Order: sequence, then C-alpha cells, then structure tokens
Amino acid sequence: MRIRILGCSGGIGLGLRTTSILLDSDTLIDCGTGVGDLPLAELRDIKRVFLTHSHLDHVACLPLILDSTFDERVSNPLEVFALPETIKALRDHMFNDILWPDFERLPSAENPVFKFTPIAAGEVITIDERRIRAINVFHTVPSLGFCFEHDDNVFAFSGDTMTNQDLWPILNNYEELGALVVEVSFPNSQSELAQTAGHYCPQTLAKDLEKLRHEPQIWVTAMKPGMQEQIFEEVLQAIPGRKINRLKRGDVFEI
Ligand SMILES: [Zn+2]
Repeated sequence: MRIRILGCSGGIGLGLRTTSILLDSDTLIDCGTGVGDLPLAELRDIKRVFLTHSHLDHVACLPLILDSTFDERVSNPLEVFALPETIKALRDHMFNDILWPDFERLPSAENPVFKFTPIAAGEVITIDERRIRAINVFHTVPSLGFCFEHDDNVFAFSGDTMTNQDLWPILNNYEELGALVVEVSFPNSQSELAQTAGHYCPQTLAKDLEKLRHEPQIWVTAMKPGMQEQIFEEVLQAIPGRKINRLKRGDVFEI
C-alpha cells in the first residue's frame, strides 16, 4: 500500500494544504485542500473517501471533486465512508442545495454521482488486500482516526483529537506498528485553546504517548500555519525519547 500525503497543514497559506491522504491511487482519507493539487486524471481514479470528521479543513474539497469529475461519476459513484453524524452534518450544511447542490440526487436520485456509506468506530473495511480500521478519537465533533493495515504492516493516523483513552490501547494491540501520524495543532502557550478546540499541544501529546508501548516512527501533523517551527521544537523537547519527524506535503510511505 502506498500512502501519499497531499496535505497536512492546520490551515492554508502559500505552500500549505489541509489534510488529505491518498492510499494507492483510488482511496482518499479526508478531502482537505491538498487533494486540489491532483491532476484531473488522478481525481477521476479516486473511487472512495474515508472522512475522519466533518470539519471544513478535512472536507473542503469533497464537493469540488464531485463537480470536477461529474461525468465519470455518473456510472461510477464516489463512495464516501463516514460516521453517521458526519454524514448528517454534510447533508444538512454542505449538500443542502444552498451551500452546494445535493449531489446525492444528481444527475438523478436513482443514479447519483456519490453515495454515503456509514461506518462505526471499530469497523474494519477491507478493500482488495488493504484493511482500514476506524478508531474512535475525541474531538469537538464525532471523529475517527484510521489504521491502514497491509500484510503485517500498520500505519496509523490519529485524525483530529485531544487526549483520549481509545486510540492508544488499539495501537498497542498491534504486534507491529511501523508508523504513526498524529496531530499536534497548537503550541503549549495555547494549551487552553487546544483543550477547547479538541486538539493536542506538545505537552498533552507527550503525556498520551506514555501509553504507547511500541516505538514507531512518529510524524506530527496539522500544526497551525505560522507556528509550525515553534510547535515542532516544543514536541522535540517534550518527547525526547522517541523518533519524531514533521510530516510534509508530498511525503510517501510504503507498507
Ligand atoms: Zn477538526
């Protein structure tokens, strides 16, 4: 399985793209602005999307992909996997014929260009030889993290989360955890804001990482624009014993 980072920033700005991860050529995790850099041919190859949650930086390009690839989707609808609460939020607030057309009824309700498939935390979706496990995480809205499993390799992605009890025991259950991408959005000086917004800061991430018995390579992601250097430096100070990297747009992992 090839894992390609299309976007990993907590916001926009020159060279910055929000969260989107491409698995091989056909599966997206989140639909932030990073996916907008793909050529049309690659957008057409995407068959399904897994959404961590409903926040705009993770879904902003979903309606635009449908518009850009509309003709191809008429006979080959994009399948969007998400929590029922996420699906409801997108139906109510995005595909509501006000903010954007209801593409679940276009070109017709019988033959739409995309469809939602509800998933639950704990569920494992198998696609060919790839397995994608949804994990409950704690954010301001119902949210998932994902583990991508192929052969005996595991790549974990936290999605947006704050301190939580669910992610770490699940990661500990794997015999081998090769890589972990985990969010850390705010610096320690904004720890209260991080708590309110349902995100990690370096000190809360350090505390949670004490629960992890594996020693994977760790990449931190979703840092606020303009604060990346500060946040990453605080991460390195707070977590001196682990192998920590800063996730970059364009990074590619093979598992
Ligand atoms: Zn969020």
